[in-house]
Amino acid sequence: MPEARSKTEKVVELCKRRGIIFPAAEIYGGIAGFFEYGPVGVRIKRKLIEDWRKFFVESEENIYEIEGCLILPDKVFEASGHLEHFVDPLTQCKSCKAMFRADNLIEESTGKFVEGLPPEELTKILREERISCPKCGGELSDVKMFNLLLKTEVGPAGGEKASLRPETAQNIFLNFKRIYQSMRAKLPFGVAQVGKSFRNEISPRQFLVRLREFTQCEIEMFVDPRKVNECEGFERVKDVSIRLYTAEAQRKGEREMEIKVGEAVEKGLIPNKWMGYFMAKEFLWFLSLGIPREALRFRQMLPEETPHYSKGNFDLEIEFEFGFKECVGNAYRSDYDLRRHSQFSGEELAVVTPEGEKIIPHVIEPSFGVERPFLAILYHCFVEDKERGWNWLALPPKISPFIAGVFPLVSKDGLPEKAKEVYKMLKESGFDVVYDEKGSIGKRYARIDEIGVPLAITIDYQTLQDDTVTVRDRDTTKQVRVKILELKDIFQRVVDKNSTKDIF
Ligand SMILES: [Zn+2]
Repeated sequence: MPEARSKTEKVVELCKRRGIIFPAAEIYGGIAGFFEYGPVGVRIKRKLIEDWRKFFVESEENIYEIEGCLILPDKVFEASGHLEHFVDPLTQCKSCKAMFRADNLIEESTGKFVEGLPPEELTKILREERISCPKCGGELSDVKMFNLLLKTEVGPAGGEKASLRPETAQNIFLNFKRIYQSMRAKLPFGVAQVGKSFRNEISPRQFLVRLREFTQCEIEMFVDPRKVNECEGFERVKDVSIRLYTAEAQRKGEREMEIKVGEAVEKGLIPNKWMGYFMAKEFLWFLSLGIPREALRFRQMLPEETPHYSKGNFDLEIEFEFGFKECVGNAYRSDYDLRRHSQFSGEELAVVTPEGEKIIPHVIEPSFGVERPFLAILYHCFVEDKERGWNWLALPPKISPFIAGVFPLVSKDGLPEKAKEVYKMLKESGFDVVYDEKGSIGKRYARIDEIGVPLAITIDYQTLQDDTVTVRDRDTTKQVRVKILELKDIFQRVVDKNSTKDIF
């Protein structure tokens, strides 16, 4: 394998080869911006989402989860503003007809940050900077706005105009009244949703970074606008130190600052305690997933990147080889969505306070992508290990595809039968284990290291005499000998602590 490849390319290669994630419709040449999870990837994704649910939804008393439809009538997107505002600047090569996002082209060839500029400005910069088609050098068209909703029609004969949802948030607003009433909810309360969203991106790229179909985990937290600083959980997280990149620092060309969440709210750098609460939790969550703190930061959106109704947006960004990328968007959406849907539907989307007052709640929204964090985790957990002789993934046990591999030392003398027995016992106890007897024991270690399995159980000749096995630690390759009966307890400790440290 040529050594010149970047770490990202190695991760992409691993993903394809080991059934983690790969292009959709690959045998037909693929379709840009669509990827499919394989048997190993789907396990990691499922555990990642389950961990998110545990950490952000189940741990709260007042966050309810729903599952809405992917296709919604266009009336919804008229009200939400997506028909009008959900656009990206498009330019097309006049010779080869390739399409590009004009802002990306400009940013790549000049380093200027131009996101949010109107199409006329972008056209002007394209001309001034003499930017031509990166594929063939041809002349580029004037920039025009392109709507990113993925359109469809429902029913026969042209049917009703509809779109695939561009964010899971909309179902939550549409169902607000039902949830509020059926759960007898009181402010503050949240509604969460996990599911697919779709954006007809002009130029999907960078593997899982810009996709046309992707998964989101979103929470809409509804609060009384006068009580945005009444957040019970805030006390628990106020001393969490985060890395904050304010709009001011960005303008002055300064770096991120390390600051405690409590202090950042006090100083008015973060708009309120509810947003601070979610931001602190996000920071802690990503640390627990193996992302180093220096690769994490919250970037305050610049005014030109922020929707007009927003009262403050912070993106949690994770660093990749190609720079920092948004992985979570935190938005203070105010009462914009509920107000608009009230107006357009004629349905009153308000709550009655204990004092008998009718108000439209404000919304604080932490919105997680799944694919970008998924890639970030693989990227930061990827260990290039010359000494060991193979590269491996240092995945945290709570999201590793399997907790352990179970191997007979050799495939004879009754060892496979004994190993199968151990494997079945563990599987029946609910642990994710994988059995492998093919090839040398070294090759089998390599195969599970590569997909991030934290433990390897080896059944050898001594096992037949005293029912003990060796347990090998992926991170250190250290081994300990334990009784078969102890395995379940060891696995549970590794899962609970999300670490193998106190076993080895
Ligand atoms: Zn061209």
